[in-house]
Amino acid sequence: MIQAPRGTFDILPEDAARRARLEGEAAAILGAAGYRRIETPTFEATELFARGVGEATDIVRKEMYSFDDGAGRSMTLRPEGTAPVCRAYIEHGMHKLPQPVKLWYLSSFFRAEAPQRGRYRQFWQIGAEAIGSAAPETDAELIVLLAEVLQAAGVGDVELHLSSLGTPEARVEYREELKRYLRAHEDRLSPEVRDRIDANPLRAFDAKDRATREVMQSAPTLLERLEGEDAEHFARVRALLDAAGLRYELDPSLVRGLDYYTRTLYSFESPRLGAQSEVGGGGRYDRLIEQLEGPPTPASGWAAGVERMLLATELAAAPPEPVDVFVAVADAAGTGAAFALAQDARRAGLSAQLELAGRSLKGQLRHADRIGARYVAIVGEDSHASLRDMSSGEQREVPRDAVIAAIKEAHP
Ligand code: AMP
Repeated sequence: MIQAPRGTFDILPEDAARRARLEGEAAAILGAAGYRRIETPTFEATELFARGVGEATDIVRKEMYSFDDGAGRSMTLRPEGTAPVCRAYIEHGMHKLPQPVKLWYLSSFFRAEAPQRGRYRQFWQIGAEAIGSAAPETDAELIVLLAEVLQAAGVGDVELHLSSLGTPEARVEYREELKRYLRAHEDRLSPEVRDRIDANPLRAFDAKDRATREVMQSAPTLLERLEGEDAEHFARVRALLDAAGLRYELDPSLVRGLDYYTRTLYSFESPRLGAQSEVGGGGRYDRLIEQLEGPPTPASGWAAGVERMLLATELAAAPPEPVDVFVAVADAAGTGAAFALAQDARRAGLSAQLELAGRSLKGQLRHADRIGARYVAIVGEDSHASLRDMSSGEQREVPRDAVIAAIKEAHP
């Protein structure tokens, strides 16, 4: 038997309905704040992610599905949405639009990660990006919007972890300090962290092994070193979140697995999830557009995992859609009339299903009951139909062309 690849899954109909509901909630919340939907291609030039996400990140080093496009160019299934949206912003000259340009997406992403609960190789994210504003209000508004999306999704209690990375210039001195600290404790660090002291010392905060984590507990943090405008920006984001009544925890160890972040950084964690507890997160990325050869443009955004939101909700799978009428056939002579009646019923705004499996009349009635049909219209050769109310069991003869009106009258 051929199965879906490891780490991927099928979205079955009952799950698709929950997803559609989540999409509707997110679209309403983001739309009301002026965000408009964008969708970018499933694959992009590999270079976009190498430059945008960062050569030293796990995503680019080990998790990309890259392939040759047949003409010698390397393409990659998108592992994240921010770099593609920024590419689109630059390509379509969106810097000429009123700023910030506020966009959202709901797309699937691909990472060759070790699969586990809440971590897949193809997964979906709802993301929002506000491109063209450096204002702390943008960050605070995005955070509040993500909190609202999570709430509307029924995710329940979440913890908001908040931090700031400052600007890359301010980070230079700190990185040197951190490197010195890491080298002084090199013998206790995991080989992965040790190998990347120079390339990406901040990722040491993200390490999972115990010894490295112990070392990192006393490491100097960037949050303690914030100065000047960086400190002011962060204070303003905090003040706005306080005013909005959104509780957060300052988390100086917060590092996200993408290199492009500057200043504000956050994640929402759900205690309902296991090891993969982050439902969504994001931050400010003031240098990314420039890194992708666009005009210098500050920006901010987040992404939330659809599967993790659904795992954290206690929403039951959605029941199938109601069926107003099941059109049954009394005998083969009625099939043409039944076919037409089902179509007419749908045009009239009813949900109607037609017998498609050649069941006996008894079998058709049993099937109509199973799918929860309100009425069964039994169509035969003559111009009348038997209309059966499935809840009362009452059955009456009506002219075939009066069936729809009779159902609508009973259920206006
Ligand atoms: P990131 O793009 O890494 O910042 O992740 C944003 C969100 O996407 C996370 O908070 C998760 O909810 C979700 N996510 C990231 N990677 C995966 C994955 N491999 N499988 C499922 N969800 C993921």
